[in-house]
Amino acid sequence: INRIAIITSGGDAPGMNAALRAVVLAAENYGIEVMGFRHGYEGLLTNDFVKLDREDVEHILQYSGTIIKSARSERFKSEEGGREAATNLDAHQIDAFIVIGGDGSFRGAEHLANFWKGPIIGIPGTIDNDLFGTDNTIGYDTAVETAMDALDKIRDTAEAMDRVFIVEVMGRNAGYIGISSAMACGAERMILPELQKDKPLTVDALVKHIESVQRVRGDSSYVMVLCENQWPGGAVRLAEQLEDRLNLPCRPCLLGHVQRGGRPTAMDRILGTRLGVHAVELVRQGKTAVMAGVTANELSETPLIDTWTKRKKLSEELINIQQSLFNPIKKDRNKS
Ligand code: ADP
Repeated sequence: INRIAIITSGGDAPGMNAALRAVVLAAENYGIEVMGFRHGYEGLLTNDFVKLDREDVEHILQYSGTIIKSARSERFKSEEGGREAATNLDAHQIDAFIVIGGDGSFRGAEHLANFWKGPIIGIPGTIDNDLFGTDNTIGYDTAVETAMDALDKIRDTAEAMDRVFIVEVMGRNAGYIGISSAMACGAERMILPELQKDKPLTVDALVKHIESVQRVRGDSSYVMVLCENQWPGGAVRLAEQLEDRLNLPCRPCLLGHVQRGGRPTAMDRILGTRLGVHAVELVRQGKTAVMAGVTANELSETPLIDTWTKRKKLSEELINIQQSLFNPIKKDRNKS
């Protein structure tokens, strides 16, 4: 192996730079060159690349985003796109390919493997933490920290003004950011995809919960964490629906893309560094079509295809603990 190509692809995540840095530094130890193709798979089609040396990456691990840019590429998804990317990799004498991204990017890697025979390694970079085969994905910890920060601030005003807040967090179809931020901030309620799919909440049920929490506590501050895509019309609509029914102001707050930025936490920098080095080792071991991960705090590898076909399960223990803390309806009943 003399030359590795690397891309960052799909939604950016804090810690991608740390992983990129680790790949370059680890590769350099073995005398392997690293070419960064810019803007994800698009760069493979446009031959937009930079050679990455130690000095290019030495001081980037404290920054979010990605110095080689990320993007989505429709053209790459076609058969012709896959073929073209493979031709370009060969033209640049690339011996192995590393992709930092989420499940979409790993599907892209599988697509590439239909046309290109070199080893392909995935590094999980997404704030959603929704990839099977790793306890955490790079960026998730920072996103939770950011959501926690915002929720603490929202709580201040909820308390001061006796308000109900519905805070919408990211996570795509997984409730990881939702449950962790809710737990870290003591949110009274969370609406998670994992709960919605079996027993979708109704406005009635939410109103009942809010009223009973308020009755038991004699305090109106109430913070709800809503995962994206889990309520028609999102937090804005839900706030309207609740305000129509309750006798107090209900306010939506959409955290949006702030969750994708900010200084990566120590955890994400460390995870990025471990996985970057691990990916280079996997390349050297001749592995292909696997994702580098950390499972029970040990380095692991998982077939790329499993990372999105198998579903990582959100801990029921966490859900139960968090829900058990806000079961005032039961408490109400015991009192009477
Ligand atoms: P993420 O990696 O964050 O899940 P996306 O779902 O946007 O991001 O995917 C990133 C890119 O990966 C897409 O723009 C596309 O180029 C490529 N990709 C995603 N799904 C496929 C697929 N089924 N086949 C080929 N390429 C894909």
